[in-house]
Amino acid sequence: RLFNELLRAKGNIRVFCRVRPLNSQEGRISCVEFPNEDRANRQVALVPQERQQNGRSMSRKDFEFDRVFNETSSQTTVYEESVKPLVQSALDGFNVCVFAYGQTGSGKTHTMEGPENDRGVTFRAIKELFTLANGECAVPGVVEYTFNLSMLEIYNEQIKDLLEEKSTVASKKLDIKMREDGTGVYVPNLTEKPVSTAEEVLQLLYMGSKNRSVGVTMMNEHSSRSHLVMMISCVNHNVSKQTSFTSKISFIDLAGSERVSKSCVEGERLKEASYINKSLSALGDVIASLASAQTRSTASHIPFRNSKLTYLLSDSLGNECKTMLFVNISPSVLHAHESLCSLMFAFRAR
Ligand code: ADP
Ligand code: MG
Repeated sequence: RLFNELLRAKGNIRVFCRVRPLNSQEGRISCVEFPNEDRANRQVALVPQERQQNGRSMSRKDFEFDRVFNETSSQTTVYEESVKPLVQSALDGFNVCVFAYGQTGSGKTHTMEGPENDRGVTFRAIKELFTLANGECAVPGVVEYTFNLSMLEIYNEQIKDLLEEKSTVASKKLDIKMREDGTGVYVPNLTEKPVSTAEEVLQLLYMGSKNRSVGVTMMNEHSSRSHLVMMISCVNHNVSKQTSFTSKISFIDLAGSERVSKSCVEGERLKEASYINKSLSALGDVIASLASAQTRSTASHIPFRNSKLTYLLSDSLGNECKTMLFVNISPSVLHAHESLCSLMFAFRAR
């Protein structure tokens, strides 16, 4: 047990669970418990309730993660106890990746982006990135940083550049290529905007979100069916030694993980659903094989190429990288089954 703990402490995959408050349509019955004796805030349980959805019955299921955030955890707490330390790691040269996983409506966008008056982890991390880069991490004339921002969407296994200038006649068809020297991947022609303040980034993210494939009224629907990826590359220049290295910090608001019943949908919706299932299970497979390779400390094959998302992020998921997964769940009995699926997904990752 202790040995496992030590291995985990050294490892580079962290899994956090966040349970959002019940909303007004969900009534008052929660099926989530946080065991009282758990002072470390690491445990969460799904408990059976009398009124289960579709008469399904479920036995109590206990889970343990690196940290569990409950209904009352503030955006500040969530940020400080999860992503904050990774910002320094990105400046130190690690590739860092933060995912939000969960069914539509479980709080992924709230956790990542958050409302304007109560920002989520992405915004807070960006602020911190520039504060550190302009402050204690930089030594003027010795160590200097430059940053580039990209933003893209993966919808039905196609990549859309969200920072592309509108004037272009037709959208470029983008794909992922291996770098010539074999070190990771890149997307040729993907827009990279130089950024030097958090405000510039926020402005671009705002513009980029308007370029998502569907009109604003359909935004929620659409955002639940595509993966949103925001990446900042950081170049660390050592002016005196004339050397530099690049690292990357990426934030991914994943498509909704809900299982769509094949008998209920057809045409476009069925196609979307199968692409989402495919890419989320590819992500699960990659994270699970990284996690097990880590504990066994053997080299093993990691199936990065099974989806655009995992291929794109293959240089940010792995040995020299730091990966963080939020699994967002609703506490409502109405969503007990989906919550169980999400917790199982996350549990596999650790
Ligand atoms: P998702 O992106 O997973 O579809 P959202 O982040 O849009 O879900 O959340 C769904 C709704 O629940 C939104 O109205 C959001 O403001 C609210 N919500 C989510 N998480 C929280 C939270 N921790 N505290 C308060 N409201 C939340
Ligand atoms: Mg969302």
